[in-house]
Formats: sequence, structure tokens, C-alpha cells
Amino acid sequence: MTRFRTAPVCNFPECTAVGRKTWALLPLCLDHHETIRLETLKYYANRMPYEHRQYYLQIARLIKRITPLNAQTVTKNGVLVNKGGVK
Ligand SMILES: [Zn+2]
Repeated sequence: MTRFRTAPVCNFPECTAVGRKTWALLPLCLDHHETIRLETLKYYANRMPYEHRQYYLQIARLIKRITPLNAQTVTKNGVLVNKGGVK
């Protein structure tokens, strides 16, 4: 568990609560962390298509920015280093 010297703010859009947990390295408040956790459980149980993950998708672009290997496509100096969809 990562500890922060100063309390980070939740990365969910418009949320100003203190980020007490992280999701894919992204600080989130307890409420948003739980919301996304439950949404993800439903998603992996095949109860919803990817594009219906309304909460996760709002922070997905932030996660992709800090974890480039998870991005759809990553290029470095014009060279493709990661092809999207490969885990
Ligand atoms: Zn929040």
C-alpha cells in the first residue's frame, strides 16, 4: 500500500475528497474506489459491456496516462511499442 506524505485528492472528475485508496496507481476517495470496484466486479462477471462502465471510463484516460503500457496503442519516437489489447 502506497503512503503519501501529503494527502492526494481523489482523481474522479469534480470530486474534491481526499484520495485514501488507489486504483491502478490513481488516488481515489473511498466512495469512488468502492463504486469502481463494484462496477469492475460486475464487468468481469460479464454482466455489462465495457462501454457501460460509466465510472471507470471517467478515470480510464487518467490511468492510461500514468500507465502507458495499458494504453490502447503506445508509440515512442514514432515506433509502436505496445499494441492495444495485448495483456
Ligand atoms: Zn472521489
